[in-house]
Amino acid sequence: MGRSRVSTAFRPHFRPEGHFDRSASHKPILVLEGVMKVYRADAPVLRRVDLTVERGEFVFITGPSGAGKSTLLRLVYRAETVDEGRILFCGRDVARLTDESIPHLRRNIGVVFQDFRLVPYWTVSQNVAVALEVMGLSPRVVRSRVALALERVGLDGRGEDLAGVLSGGEQQRVSIARAIVTEPAIVLADEPTGNLDPVLALDILGLFEEIHEGGTTVLFATHDRSLLEVTPRRLIVLDDGRAIEARAGLSALGGALGGTLGPDHGVDIDVRDDELLEAPLH
Ligand code: ADP
Repeated sequence: MGRSRVSTAFRPHFRPEGHFDRSASHKPILVLEGVMKVYRADAPVLRRVDLTVERGEFVFITGPSGAGKSTLLRLVYRAETVDEGRILFCGRDVARLTDESIPHLRRNIGVVFQDFRLVPYWTVSQNVAVALEVMGLSPRVVRSRVALALERVGLDGRGEDLAGVLSGGEQQRVSIARAIVTEPAIVLADEPTGNLDPVLALDILGLFEEIHEGGTTVLFATHDRSLLEVTPRRLIVLDDGRAIEARAGLSALGGALGGTLGPDHGVDIDVRDDELLEAPLH
């Protein structure tokens, strides 16, 4: 693969350190246009999802288990590819990125998973530093960025501990440090509190809110209704393969989820059409 292909790939939007430059700043950070994902022909997971996320937003994505939340996020960081439609990240169609430019995409997208995905026999620092390895930074710069990321997640001084001995909440903090150490433009969180008790879940949500306050766009997928109630945020409900903007917030949720939250979810499940508005295209 020639060098010229690499240079025309994803780089124009980013400075070499992985930060954004001004040329991309006027575009929505993420646009999904008519996105379809079908694993089984009789039951498409996503059917024509339209969604625009502006830079600096914090967006909850919710819906019952199996609604397609993980699938949607996996499509964004290109662990999967769309069957129809397209996904634009900073104006670039992620399906059309060359293999060489995918690391540029990934460095600008931090991902946090429910199950942490740490290497338990590596130290905390090693688990975080791995995200910087492809960037060719000097060991000194790596050390200082890792230390800064650990400080941001409240794990100052824990860098030499083995990841496997940390509590679940601490392990999730490590994985958040790994997601933000490259200073990505967007962080995707896929049920990041799913393995944690309710108090820790709130702590972790708070951490994402701090990251958001620092200017990072956050897409937070969860089916945990108690988290959605903490702070009013933009809320997208995945319902029958479509992304529905729940402008009425939680009051729209019960109906949109078809009552799948259980009999005691305590909200009015009659949703008026005008309360559920499709996300606008850009
Ligand atoms: P959620 O994150 O909302 O729980 P997922 O995106 O994980 O939902 O899954 C949505 C649907 O797609 C589920 O029915 C799941 O079984 C199916 N699915 C997800 N990934 C695959 C795959 N790689 N192959 C086949 N089916 C899949």
